[in-house]
Amino acid sequence: MSFFRPCKPCNCGSGLMRYDLTDAAGIFCCYVCEECEDQKKKKFNPDIFGRNSRYAMSGDEEQLEIDYDF
Ligand SMILES: [Zn+2]
Repeated sequence: MSFFRPCKPCNCGSGLMRYDLTDAAGIFCCYVCEECEDQKKKKFNPDIFGRNSRYAMSGDEEQLEIDYDF
C-alpha cells in the first residue's frame, strides 16, 4: 500500500503547490505554499516553531498555551 499524496494547489488561491506546515516537534499544522506560509504561520503560536523551545524538545503540548481558535 502506498500513502502517496498527489500534489494539490494551495487553498489560498496562489496556484502554487501546497505542502505541510509542521511545527518544531514535527506536528502537522496546516497546508501552506510559499505564498502564504508566513501569513498562515502567524495564526499559530510562534512558540511551536521555536527549534530550541521546551516544546520542540518534548513535543508536549502542555508546554504551550495554544489558541486553536483559527
Ligand atoms: Zn498558499
